[in-house]
Amino acid sequence: EDSEQTSPYQVAWSVRETLGYERHESDDDNADDRSSRVTRLCTYFQQKYKHLCRLERAESRQKKCRHTLRKALLQAASREPERAGQLIQELRRATCARTSTSQARQRDAEPTTCSGTSKGEQCTNKALPYTRHCFQHILSNRSQQLFSSCTAKFADGQQCSVPVFDITHQTPLCEEHAKKMDNFLRGDSSRKVQHQQQRKPR
Ligand SMILES: [Zn+2]
Ligand SMILES: [Zn+2]
Repeated sequence: EDSEQTSPYQVAWSVRETLGYERHESDDDNADDRSSRVTRLCTYFQQKYKHLCRLERAESRQKKCRHTLRKALLQAASREPERAGQLIQELRRATCARTSTSQARQRDAEPTTCSGTSKGEQCTNKALPYTRHCFQHILSNRSQQLFSSCTAKFADGQQCSVPVFDITHQTPLCEEHAKKMDNFLRGDSSRKVQHQQQRKPR
């Protein structure tokens, strides 16, 4: 029932429409009217069934085609790998050109250059997928929700501004600060263990 624009289905739909139309017109429904409606419904479902069969057959035909193409490409690749590679690239380009939507989708996914600047100079890093910023500049995008600034502060009180992808912690830390925190906690716990060990003998 999707984007198929072939005629049989449209015919079937128009049959249904005429059925609905007739139902309104004939309020005095007699036996003749009923039987004619039933026959029309029958033809409608028959057409629908035929159409679905046709779709199914087309699908299996496509599957077979794809299978034979894959087999042929495999054979070609084992015989002449370079030529086969060229052919695959050409095929891919052809299919891309044919479906404009997938082309647009590819364009979206294609990495573009970061639109951010560092010290007045244009960033040359590749942008993250579906964004216009690289990892260093992703925080310039205020609508994004995945990255946040490191929540740690340096010894001089300055806020760390390294972007972090961490959706599990409430106070995300960059790699450097996460390591420092880990070391701190480890030292803390080992200190506690030492204290306990020192206390135990007493
Ligand atoms: Zn950048
Ligand atoms: Zn940090």
